[in-house]
Amino acid sequence: MSTAPRIEAAKRDWGHDETGCTVLHIDMDAFYASLEVARHPELRGRPVIIGTGPRSVVSAASYEARRYGINSAMASARARQLCPDGVFLPVDMRYYRTMSRRIFQEVFGQVTDRIEKVSVDECYMDVSGALLRWGSPSAIGAWMRREVASRYHVTCSVGIAANKLVAKMASTNAKPDGMLLIPKARHAEFVQMMPLRGIPGIGPSLERRLNAWGIDSVADLAAAGEDTLAQATGSRTVAHGLALASHGIDGREVVPYTPEKSVGAERTFDADTTDMRVVNALLRRCCDEVASTLRRRGLVARTLTVKLRFDDLRYATKAHTMDRATDTASTLYPQATALLRAMLGMPADAPDDTPLPKRIRLAGVSASGLGEASVTAVQPSLDDLLEESQAPTGETRSARMRDAEQALDAIRRRYGKGAASLGL
Ligand SMILES: [Mg+2]
Repeated sequence: MSTAPRIEAAKRDWGHDETGCTVLHIDMDAFYASLEVARHPELRGRPVIIGTGPRSVVSAASYEARRYGINSAMASARARQLCPDGVFLPVDMRYYRTMSRRIFQEVFGQVTDRIEKVSVDECYMDVSGALLRWGSPSAIGAWMRREVASRYHVTCSVGIAANKLVAKMASTNAKPDGMLLIPKARHAEFVQMMPLRGIPGIGPSLERRLNAWGIDSVADLAAAGEDTLAQATGSRTVAHGLALASHGIDGREVVPYTPEKSVGAERTFDADTTDMRVVNALLRRCCDEVASTLRRRGLVARTLTVKLRFDDLRYATKAHTMDRATDTASTLYPQATALLRAMLGMPADAPDDTPLPKRIRLAGVSASGLGEASVTAVQPSLDDLLEESQAPTGETRSARMRDAEQALDAIRRRYGKGAASLGL
């Protein structure tokens, strides 16, 4: 459930030139709540809130519930105060995932296989190869919206644009139950009517920093120039990303998601090594890469396998299955380095500078036992990285690490893989 700002004035006719607008962003409206209403029709029209229990947070709220000021990530206890007569239901991820899979297969998958699933209720689609058969992006969007509504009793909002950034901002502003086409020639104008927070990735602390420099809107951002933005944010890379976004420019491609049995990363060393620090550093990078892929695909893994290749070209692997599935490098990496020691018959507490008994040519990790992440996807924000925000009480370290790693994902998506890494 998105809490991104949307403005009424944006929900209008922007013109009908669809040339080059082959990226669709589809976001199902109040997905969990809509699915609950679909199987309990007697709840239609009532405020439905998903997320019960004294310690839980709201995962989704029907539009009727949102009128009471309820939104995602709010404590369920607070939501009960705001709406005592609301219907509070527990999260049933198994049901939501099943329905999600059906909608993706039976509707979206009929259009194209160029689908990048972001979460159970959200995806990007590249329809450039489907136009011959379907006519236009808006015909595709209209058909999908009709099918999903009539077959599953769930409405969805669709944004159509030339890139992912503008398509996502368009679907946000089309909500609920709408479709918005932003012709390519109007991308800059469209994004420049938004508040800063309308750009995915700008969170409260980046917003505060920009505000301090008199930058209060995307239009201000566009007018500021990269030098000012670099001074305001303290980062040339962030400044460049902001400048591009303020003109509605985004070079990221739609990367089709395909279900996999494992996600892995491995590298061959430039020279064979017996230095554990070197091997650990590589394992850490691989864990980081694997965790980032897991999060991007909305997956969690139960089993971690370390793979080594020695200088005699023999392979060795060793796996460990964890009590709980994870998608963070901060959980994977300690397992990986423990597995490395175990594989080489070294004590678990061997110091880092102990020479390895064998020369290592290649090392890597793979994560398997994959399941879909049951947590609600939170839009990663750039500013988590710029300014460590105070963690609300009760938040676990792993939740904070996950947030931090998600922020890194956002940076990498925008500026390339090597742009940032987590010091574990
Ligand atoms: Mg949604």
